[in-house]
Amino acid sequence: MSHAMGKIVAGYGNMLTASFDTNVRQNEVAYVVSEQGRMKCEVIRVRDNLCYMQAFEDTRGVKVGDRVEFTKDLLIAELGPGLLGQIYDGLQNPLPKLAAECGLFLKRGVYLESLDRTTKWDYTPVAKVGDVVEAGDVLGTVPEGIFTHKVFVPFNFIGKAEVKKVVAPGSYGVAEVVAQVQDESGQLRDLNMIQEWPIKIALRHYKQRLLPVEPLVTGCRIIDTFYPVAKGGTACIPGPFGSGKTVLQQIISRYADVDVIIVAACGERAGEVVETLRDFPHLIDPYTGKTLMERTIIICNTSSMPVAAREASIYTAITLGEYYRQMGRGVLILADSTSRWAQALREMSGRLEEIPGEEAFPAYLQSRIADFYERAGLVDLQDGSQGSVSIIGTVSPAGGNFEEPVTQGTLAVVGAFLGLTWARSNARRFPAIDPLISWSKYPEQMKDTLDNIDPSWVRKIKDAQRLIYDGNEVKKRMDVVGEEGTSLGDFILQLKAEFLDAVFLQQNAFDPVDAANNMERQVYVFNKVDQLLKMEIPAKDKDDARDIFFKLTALFRNWNSSEWQKEDFQGYEKQINEFLGG
Ligand code: ADP
Ligand code: MG
Repeated sequence: MSHAMGKIVAGYGNMLTASFDTNVRQNEVAYVVSEQGRMKCEVIRVRDNLCYMQAFEDTRGVKVGDRVEFTKDLLIAELGPGLLGQIYDGLQNPLPKLAAECGLFLKRGVYLESLDRTTKWDYTPVAKVGDVVEAGDVLGTVPEGIFTHKVFVPFNFIGKAEVKKVVAPGSYGVAEVVAQVQDESGQLRDLNMIQEWPIKIALRHYKQRLLPVEPLVTGCRIIDTFYPVAKGGTACIPGPFGSGKTVLQQIISRYADVDVIIVAACGERAGEVVETLRDFPHLIDPYTGKTLMERTIIICNTSSMPVAAREASIYTAITLGEYYRQMGRGVLILADSTSRWAQALREMSGRLEEIPGEEAFPAYLQSRIADFYERAGLVDLQDGSQGSVSIIGTVSPAGGNFEEPVTQGTLAVVGAFLGLTWARSNARRFPAIDPLISWSKYPEQMKDTLDNIDPSWVRKIKDAQRLIYDGNEVKKRMDVVGEEGTSLGDFILQLKAEFLDAVFLQQNAFDPVDAANNMERQVYVFNKVDQLLKMEIPAKDKDDARDIFFKLTALFRNWNSSEWQKEDFQGYEKQINEFLGG
């Protein structure tokens, strides 16, 4: 079958309508050929002999009658060695290269290869001549940064194939043939290190999905200790503008104990993305001492880019994540902010004149959000190893109103809800994750693993969460009846809750030591805090109690900014122990 051809018959913003001759399918890629060059589009609806396409670029200058070439291909991601360290736009164009070729103002119709063809990789064949292989089997490996990158038989390869030729170990580019196989129909096929996968279809080349039971350590105490996320799990961080979502995402991207981080930056502001691009490449990985970029991929869109590119970026990110999961890696996808993505869906739906749902979002918003988060997961791979994709997405509801559809649609499907509030960010209690509204379903699911880290951990955390609620109740009452109307016992209870918040839940993102804690330290510090919370405080009266907690808070804060097990750390701990013992 030859590819369909068509003509533009109408346009409305980034939505183009075209007529076509033979067949066109939903989600196939098409190019509009105009005086400006070739412009990439995706077919999003087919009706009789008309199709509606979203253009990935500015459509100015496109005219009725312009030629349309359909490709039959779905929107794909290019997979292979060399993805790590890249900065891509939503269509996986390498941005620095694009900027080098086109200058600061990106030209239309310029699409670059996602994987660099000139880089040579140190290839070691794994499959041997005579082996029978199928989709997802390992052909060979190359070192990529600090990992071994597996080169697979393409995941869309149909049936079994016999390996006929393999190259000698050596240095090859991604596009060079590294093996020849004969498929079931007898045809010979050359394979290189590149494969393509349609981004809107989940890569399910594993034996089975498993229930995630290992914690994903982010370095952030209120998350890891209070509302943990599992490796292979999902979390959402909703918060109003300026409440600290981006700062939190950056902290997590730096410290999370995973192999690969993929940041999908659908920026609120263009400047935010620029900051990410400027700062990220210089950050040092706290685990390996190398640059953080070596284990990071950034997919970047600003709010000024066409909505379709923004919509694609989320899918590109998750596809790259699934690819590294196939290699037995732990991957974390950070999407900031998914509200921008949802707005792209709303805009496109509006142009298609679909019947709108709540707040003009399309009725299928909830199912799109669910489809995205469902691509996370811990899986058992064909070779017996495990890989995981975890997703943490931010949501930026207008006015901080969590009742809106994107927040609600997200919290219905994620495993942890880390809600940021203005009440906390205005009080400069950072990270502004509000313990009164946040929750995680993972402590129950991970109970055995957590209690292995520390016996009765889950129970102790529940006690501490209870204290936060109780302290808040006392505080609310005290705001009405005043301190005089509050018993010394209640007063101390409220001070204890404040203390827990101040020295454990709050964390200074700009202090090199306090910014992130490993789990060992979190457990160690929490146990001291817990001991203190459960002891009888020797206070004569309220002023005395206030004084004691004032000093304790300062002491613990100093302890928090002292390097783990160094002299200062031990010095402060000694003072803490004296208080606990005497
Ligand atoms: P959002 O992405 O939610 O709009 P940002 O992450 O850009 O918000 O944060 C807004 C501002 O709040 C930051 O520029 C910073 O001054 C402050 N802030 C956020 N998080 C922290 C933190 N953990 N520690 C200290 N200040 C913070
Ligand atoms: Mg932000």
